[in-house]
This record gives sequence, structure tokens and C-alpha cells, in this order.
Amino acid sequence: MGSGPERMNKMGWIELIVGCMFAGKTEEFIRRLIRYKFGKKAIIVFKPEIDKRYSDDSVQTHHGISHSAHPVKDSKALYKILKEKEKEFDANKRFDVIGIDELQFFDKGIVDLVEKLANDGYIIVANGLDKDYKSDPFKNVFELLPLAEYVEKLSALCSQCGGHANRTQRLVNGAPVRDTEGPLVLISGQDSYEARCRHCYVKPDTKKKKK
Ligand SMILES: [Zn+2]
Repeated sequence: MGSGPERMNKMGWIELIVGCMFAGKTEEFIRRLIRYKFGKKAIIVFKPEIDKRYSDDSVQTHHGISHSAHPVKDSKALYKILKEKEKEFDANKRFDVIGIDELQFFDKGIVDLVEKLANDGYIIVANGLDKDYKSDPFKNVFELLPLAEYVEKLSALCSQCGGHANRTQRLVNGAPVRDTEGPLVLISGQDSYEARCRHCYVKPDTKKKKK
């Protein structure tokens, strides 16, 4: 007798995968989706339009594993496409599992939408960065933590010492960014960001302007 989510009588819950960059969030995300696929669940995957690192219509890991995904501009567009795609099904059939990639890049409406969809009977599998490079929480992910039934927090290994890393260091020309100028958005590949442990992480000076 398993005690995992698939043993529950009523359908609909939230599975949240969080962590810093290079922690394997996307690998875990895709692993869970494929697992549900083998269980004959109907799956649809969304990703924020902003994330065009590798492909426009798929979610990809740094190592090239991928899963098809619908790029959407915001939470409203996600809901619209979900309902449009379900119209193509026979009556009474709908998706079982909704995958949502990179939660932190969605508008704040994604929190209420995820909660609503889980209440409506969908299994939500979502992933996101829990902190930005200043180590401040990404709001969407932070707000979904208490709402999720299952939270998987992944860590990376520190690029400096090999210890457990749960922070994302932003680098410019190979050196940690010292102030908080520049975009919050973490979109680039391995060259501008690295995973660091609490001891090797250099926190940008967020109080710089107060003096
Ligand atoms: Zn370290």
C-alpha cells in the first residue's frame, strides 16, 4: 500500500519542486510528468513566455532532456489555453495533470490559479526558484509553499567548495555581483550564475543606496 499522492481518493493537489539554480529542478519536474504519463494520465505543460533559453515549445534541462510545453504570457493565458485544449477532447474528458515550469516568472495571479485548479481536481506539478540572486524569496513560489501538499526542496553542490548549495550567485565577468543593480530575472545559462553554499555565497549589498 503506497502512501504517495496517487493513493488519495479525491483528485487534485499541488506538487512543488523548489531550489536554487543547478539543483536539478527541471529533471525532477520532467521525471514526475513522465511518471504520470506511464500511469495513463492526460498531461499538459506550460511555461512562461519569458524563458526562451533553449526552445520555444518545450521545457529542457541543462543536459538536453526535454518535454513539450505551451509558452504562455501569464496566468490568464494559461487558463485560456487549458480550457481551449480540453474542448478538443470528448465530453467529460479533461487533463489530469498540469505541469507549470518556472513559477517565479509568472504574474502574481498564478498563485490563486494553481490553488483553484487543485481544488477543481487537477494534479499540479510545478517548479520554481525559491530565491533570487540577492537571496530574497520569489513571491509566487514563497506563497505557494504553504498551499502545496508536497514540497520537494532540491539543493545543488557549491561551485566553490563542493558543499550543499541552496543559493544562486550572480556573476558578471566571473565575479559575484556586489550591488543590486541590473535585472532580477535569472534567464541565462551557466556562465552568469552558479550555485553556492551559505559560506561561499557573497550577498549583494542591498543597503548601498541608504548611505
Ligand atoms: Zn561553498
